Amino acid sequence: MGIVPRMHPEDFAVHRRYGYGRDWPLGYDDLEPHYRAAERALGVAGDADEQREGAGLPFPPGYAYPMRPIPRSYLDAVLAHRLDGAVVRERPDGPDNVLRVVATPTPATPPPTPLRRRPRPPPAGAAGLPNYGERCVGNASCVPICPVQAKYNPLKTQATWSPRVTLVDRAVVSRVLTAGDGRVRGVEYQHYDDPASPAHTTRTAEADVVVLAAHAIENARLLLVSRLAESSGQVGRNLMDHPMLLAWGLMDQPVGPFRGPGSTSGLESFRTGPARGDRAPFRIEIGNWGWSWPTGSPGSDVARLLGIDGDPGRPRGRGVFGTRLRESLGRDLGRQFTLQFAFEQGAESRNRVTVDPSHRDRLGNMRPVLTYDLSEHVKRGMAAARSVSGQIFRLLGAEDRTRYAPGPLAPGWFRHDGHDFVFNGAGHGGGTHIMGTSPRTSVVDQWQRCWDHPNLYAVGCGSMPSMGTSNPSLTMAALALRSGERIHRDLRELHRPATVGRRREGRP
Ligand SMILES: Cc1cc2nc3c(=O)[nH]c(=O)nc-3n(C[C@H](O)[C@H](O)[C@H](O)COP(=O)(O)OP(=O)(O)OC[C@H]3O[C@@H](n4cnc5c(N)ncnc54)[C@H](O)[C@@H]3O)c2cc1C
Ligand code: SF4
Repeated sequence: MGIVPRMHPEDFAVHRRYGYGRDWPLGYDDLEPHYRAAERALGVAGDADEQREGAGLPFPPGYAYPMRPIPRSYLDAVLAHRLDGAVVRERPDGPDNVLRVVATPTPATPPPTPLRRRPRPPPAGAAGLPNYGERCVGNASCVPICPVQAKYNPLKTQATWSPRVTLVDRAVVSRVLTAGDGRVRGVEYQHYDDPASPAHTTRTAEADVVVLAAHAIENARLLLVSRLAESSGQVGRNLMDHPMLLAWGLMDQPVGPFRGPGSTSGLESFRTGPARGDRAPFRIEIGNWGWSWPTGSPGSDVARLLGIDGDPGRPRGRGVFGTRLRESLGRDLGRQFTLQFAFEQGAESRNRVTVDPSHRDRLGNMRPVLTYDLSEHVKRGMAAARSVSGQIFRLLGAEDRTRYAPGPLAPGWFRHDGHDFVFNGAGHGGGTHIMGTSPRTSVVDQWQRCWDHPNLYAVGCGSMPSMGTSNPSLTMAALALRSGERIHRDLRELHRPATVGRRREGRP
């Protein structure tokens, strides 16, 4: 989606502060310069003052994001008008929570005339910024891809690579090769021409340093099949995501959904604070694409109105057409909105990736097998979120259309305290080669280097011991830049020229 908030300082020490999950071996301050470098590399559009005040994030004095914020969607403006300053309570006896609609940092280039009320000059040094591509023109297809390249994607980084970098495509790494002394010597990979065929050739690539960067599930799978980094017994364990709970409503006025990025603002008040000791914290994305995520709108609404949605209660062909169809769509689609609650999930060793020789892919490699469930802590967070969404809908004067029911299309269904819930995945996998202070309890050190293998790095969200409530890619990129510095030092040390000279008489 391109949403890139920073983690909050307290997210790095959830076990010490709140008694769940795991702590990082480093803190926000250690990562802060790398956050800035990552924001520059991705071209993040945001407002540091608003993040400071609205999300409680510390930024260095005078810090400005490389790009001005993406203009707020019309929906955000309507919600801000009705919600800013309102108070909600998760429990009748709970503390006041003051709502504030906060613009979300997004790696996309805004239009030339941002619809901001308080104009700000471009940041110092703007002329020296990288080429971030085209401006966001509001096509509203950020997932899966931005047609005008306004949103960051890795091709933008690849375009800056030196000619000394070789990219081998149509290549699937099948295992990491060991050197016999605890070090690794490269990778074995399968090269194919036709993705529809299992035919391939097996090749190797030798290296002084190997960096696995295939994301949380595949990094863990490669370590498991290569029988590497095994001493802590933690490879594949602690699998986390941001479980999502969706609440969808119908406003009493048009709110202009399905235009611009999928979310340009959020409600940040539930990300931090002592309530975390009791329930999972959450961030609320204001979903700008109507009910597309929860119900498949607008396609599902068109099908329903045409009478071709497979609803057994309605005889086929008894739909509306022509002017009536257009009027019905116009009346309802423009009033849809969704609140997307993203929960922190603590590291738990039972949630894990394993491999099983009886499950193989087309190339013959073992597939990953996932074991995954939600803790009581997360379920209590979802119950709190449901109470919050009910209050928000009332404050907005919106109709709450949320329905959670079991069924084949709801694998995330569960009951808690007599209420139904359905959660979704966010695609934010992490934790599977967890970082820590000891080789006995973690897979990688604070540089994402495997404790057991000094020249093998496993980088990405899989290293994160906790994920807070922020979408993870910015933190992952900051960590990658930090590890890059370490890898550079390793390689320089390895290739440092030795001075060979004759020993002088009487000198050692
Ligand atoms: C729908 C969706 C929306 C998201 N939105 C956001 C968002 O708004 N903000 C955010 O911060 N994050 C978001 N995420 C998460 C984000 O996509 C990931 O955090 C990020 O892509 C991880 O980057 P990565 O480079 O580690 O892994 P990936 O982007 O997954 O890249 C890994 C690469 O490794 C390759 N690979 C895998 N296995 C092998 C192998 N054996 N051999 C060779 N190559 C291999 C893959 O083909 C892939 O190219 C979203 C995810 C999804 C699914
Ligand atoms: S709204 Fe459109 S132009 Fe803007 S980032 Fe998303 S896909 Fe790209």
